[in-house]
Amino acid sequence: MNIREKEEKYFFKTYNRLPIEISHGEGMYLFSKDGKKYLDMFGGLAVNALGYGNQKIIRAISEQIKKFIHVSNYYLQEQQIYFAELLIKYTGYHKVFLCNSGTEAVEGAIKIARKWGQQNNKSGIISFTNDFHGRTLGALSITGQSKYRDTFEPLLPDCFLIPYNDVDSLKLNVNNKTVAVVIEFIQGEGGIIQASEEFVLMLKKLKDEYGFLIIADEIQSGLGRTGKLFSFQHYDISPDIVVTAKSLGGGLPLGGILGNNLVADVFQPGDHGSTFGGNPVACAAGIVVLNEIIEGGLMKNAELMGKIMKSKLIDLKSEFPSIVFDVRGLGLMLGMEISQESESIMTSLREKGVLINCTNNNVLRFLPPLIIQREHVNFAVEQLRSVLKHL
Ligand code: PLP
Repeated sequence: MNIREKEEKYFFKTYNRLPIEISHGEGMYLFSKDGKKYLDMFGGLAVNALGYGNQKIIRAISEQIKKFIHVSNYYLQEQQIYFAELLIKYTGYHKVFLCNSGTEAVEGAIKIARKWGQQNNKSGIISFTNDFHGRTLGALSITGQSKYRDTFEPLLPDCFLIPYNDVDSLKLNVNNKTVAVVIEFIQGEGGIIQASEEFVLMLKKLKDEYGFLIIADEIQSGLGRTGKLFSFQHYDISPDIVVTAKSLGGGLPLGGILGNNLVADVFQPGDHGSTFGGNPVACAAGIVVLNEIIEGGLMKNAELMGKIMKSKLIDLKSEFPSIVFDVRGLGLMLGMEISQESESIMTSLREKGVLINCTNNNVLRFLPPLIIQREHVNFAVEQLRSVLKHL
């Protein structure tokens, strides 16, 4: 059996894997076992912000591994505490809970909201069509895409999906039983769609009126990717809870829930926990990631390279108006909506040495490592131009 046949034999059929077996990565590039080199423009789905083989991450995790790889959360652990201190310092939030993935961070945030709501006699959670919040049942209950959720119903009660960016519907559905509104300020999986100023303004106004929590899902859009630490910072709004994961652990599983003073005391010992959450090796990597994104200039680079790339993609839209419908997004979270399904474009680009992802059937999605430089942007766009030319 070759490796592909073995994969089919042994795994539940959850992934449509690409026909590439990776041998190693270096900077912006992935190399396959058959000797091909690929420019990675989706960075492990927004995880590999520092690219591949970052020496600072390797050093930090090697040092921690020599000390201990895991002890239970009953013990104080230096790397974990220092990482939390940095997170609080850089984000301005008051409390953090560390977990292992995005969906777990969402689950924990729902629990905080529900417990907080019990004290205030509120339980309704509002989220939006096209949102994606994860695969566990709580996260699925607030995910606004039927293809992910329908076959797993019944889901959590008191969760209401309403149309994204629809101010009237928001006004109509929020009430004094609403405990939380969960929002992606830029929907990732949903096709790189940004919340309108008007919508966010109304959300803020309704929060003042009804006193619910705002939970920002920054799992894909956060940690410098859009040119700011979190995508909500492009607006005049301050969510009560922020969930983060993806690039947080430099490729190791690490997620976090950040909360402001309003929710700081909701969790009490025994309310929540995780065996692996805040693993010290992942935290050692996380310290490097945060410092590189903020002090090391990667967030600034994301803003600059994102602008350059977006303007080049907009040029392609002018060049191929019948194929490219829209170019959107912020920083290095960009989408190009095209007139056909995007699978074949993705395949042609791969043959030309560029890896991208597609979402929503017809949106090419770019989530490259934040270390990207001009030459990589130029190469990716030139290859895309040549693919579009031959359609
Ligand atoms: N929320 C958003 C916005 C995401 O993009 C994702 C994953 O793509 C998740 C939640 C779930 O994260 P994870 O796959 O780490 O559970």
